[in-house]
Amino acid sequence: MQWLYCDFHIHTTWSDGKYSLDNVVSLYGEAGFDVIAITDHVLDSESIKRDGRTASELQIMDSSQFGAYQEALWDAARKAWKSYSMLLLPGVELTNNTDRFHILALDIKEYISPDLSVEEIIQAIRRQQGISIACHPYFRNHSGDDPSFHLWENHERFATLFDAWEVANRDDLFNVVGLKKFNYVANSDFHEKRHLLSWKTLLQCEKNAESVKEAIRKNDRVSLFLYRGGKIRQ
Ligand code: ZN
Ligand code: ZN
Repeated sequence: MQWLYCDFHIHTTWSDGKYSLDNVVSLYGEAGFDVIAITDHVLDSESIKRDGRTASELQIMDSSQFGAYQEALWDAARKAWKSYSMLLLPGVELTNNTDRFHILALDIKEYISPDLSVEEIIQAIRRQQGISIACHPYFRNHSGDDPSFHLWENHERFATLFDAWEVANRDDLFNVVGLKKFNYVANSDFHEKRHLLSWKTLLQCEKNAESVKEAIRKNDRVSLFLYRGGKIRQ
């Protein structure tokens, strides 16, 4: 069976990405990727209140925009399939900077609030037959903050609750996720063009949403690759 080239963590101008949805589809489609997930940010209400700016000034999606966002993703998915035979999964990054966790929810149908607890979020994703992924669980940004500190602090408790953990995010590899034998994926956390050159996931399965989700959950036919540019397939 074929190996699929996948990236499950991509931002667009629906939140703080530099590329529009259409441009993201062209960029990944031209490169020859098989599966992508669009995962724009929604932010916890406490962080929004604390900051004082509006959702659009903060470059995040407002919960009231979620319906329109989903429709735009379905539309982009049709184009991606027609133009490039590329599967596009709708997703969202539930961003909670108050309690410090970022969670990817793939293929969900209804809005889930990032104000909920980690366990409630994972359950809500599962009820919608989606996929939950713990983001950059051991990542330190330039200021030394770890936006997913809460997930790593409680990783023993959350280990098997998530469908997968990011073993790599863009240029960073998290050895511990591999050592502890968690289910894993590798993603670019794409915000701008240079982020395309980064760690990605390979999955061996059929190219449809149910098979891809099942392959992430089973996690026995999964691998990493570092994309260096150019066409993946001739
Ligand atoms: Zn994040
Ligand atoms: Zn992200």
